[in-house]
Amino acid sequence: MNDCLFCKIADGRIPAKKVHEDPDTVAFEDLNPQAPVHLLVIPRAHVGRTTELRPEHDAVMGKLFRVAASLAAARGVAEGGFRLVMNTNADAGQTVFHVHLHLLGGRKMGWPPG
Ligand code: 5GP
Ligand code: ZN
Repeated sequence: MNDCLFCKIADGRIPAKKVHEDPDTVAFEDLNPQAPVHLLVIPRAHVGRTTELRPEHDAVMGKLFRVAASLAAARGVAEGGFRLVMNTNADAGQTVFHVHLHLLGGRKMGWPPG
């Protein structure tokens, strides 16, 4: 999508500290990290929010989780534990409308989340 921030990061029009790229997904450091490890894993294809997901997105959405778990292992937080979060719309605090999986780790997480 032309004026979507995360589409621009995915295709390199806006710089980001990328930590993973493959034909379907991109992962990069969050600009405003909320934990010692805070990565965002996104599909290259634009989907605004989880409520817009269609059956053709099933495979890439599954891949986001596999990439995130593998990055958690690479960062050394898999054994201790980590959290995967996908916010949808205002009450959940979604601010960027290109679906993204937050990978948070490296500290003890509270529950329930705020
Ligand atoms: P949301 O609030 O939509 O679930 O998450 C959006 C995330 O994107 C936030 O954690 C925010 O810090 C991050 N973010 C916003 N703009 C940028 C940017 O330009 N670059 C990077 N790397 N992260 C961003
Ligand atoms: Zn997008």
